[in-house]
Amino acid sequence: VVAVRQNLATTRALKAANREALEQGQRAEIASAAKSDFLAVISHEIRTPMNAVMSAANLLRRTRLDPRQREHVSMLVDAGDVLLGLLNDVLDFSKIEAGKMQLEVADIDVRDRLRSLVRLWEQRAMANGVRLRLEIPAAIPEVVRVDPLRFQQILFNLMSNAVKFTEAGEVVVTVGWAPATSRLSVAVRDTGVGIPADRLDKVFNSFEQADAGTTRRFGGTGLGLTISRRLAQLMGGDLSVDSIVGQGSTFRLELPVEVAVDAAQQPLRQDV
Ligand code: ADP
Repeated sequence: VVAVRQNLATTRALKAANREALEQGQRAEIASAAKSDFLAVISHEIRTPMNAVMSAANLLRRTRLDPRQREHVSMLVDAGDVLLGLLNDVLDFSKIEAGKMQLEVADIDVRDRLRSLVRLWEQRAMANGVRLRLEIPAAIPEVVRVDPLRFQQILFNLMSNAVKFTEAGEVVVTVGWAPATSRLSVAVRDTGVGIPADRLDKVFNSFEQADAGTTRRFGGTGLGLTISRRLAQLMGGDLSVDSIVGQGSTFRLELPVEVAVDAAQQPLRQDV
């Protein structure tokens, strides 16, 4: 009888503990959703006047200015761009968290997109003494269907990080294609600072930076990779990383894509 009573007491205690954990979990979820909503509202409210500030600064830049004034306006525009980037990150992040991110697929020319992306970062990389290279094997389909905006956003973020965290050497973008699974991969490999093994998985967590020191050195929110991985997963793919401290990192985006068949290449219909 004593043993049965003890068992009952233990079961009751366990149930109470479970209930409490569940309630705590729900409270944490509600608090987290409230935090996301708050961030989204604040970011939205800041973005509107910020856009007005940027329009005015851009107009001012086009007026006749002496070199010192021009330099000050450029500082204003650069800082504004950073701020708008942060606001957009927070807004994208809350949209994904709330399950409201919608994808819009379209046909894109993979080679074209990647060439423009590399061109966009070339100057910045060269200024740091870093070479940019693009490797596209011949067997890659020309036109695929993906969400162009989000595809570009993920790769822009990977390139921005690769250039930001590489002080010498090169950044190589390599495209791969697996016809059997219809998966396209884009790897961005750098010869930069690298990420310690115990921080590797954490770089995909929101507001995380691999090394607290990099926040002060390079700025950033720690949201870019979180957004990128979630977008890749929304598209049915994934984003992963390999890295060795002091040698560099490779971020690999993998996406299942539909190959768009060029109308000109389709066999002619034979009417009988
Ligand atoms: P942030 O806006 O802070 O750059 P990200 O989510 O893009 O946020 O990156 C998170 C962290 O991951 C960075 O702060 C940095 O510590 C690390 N990281 C990302 N990419 C690289 C890279 N190519 N090389 C070294 N560290 C990187």
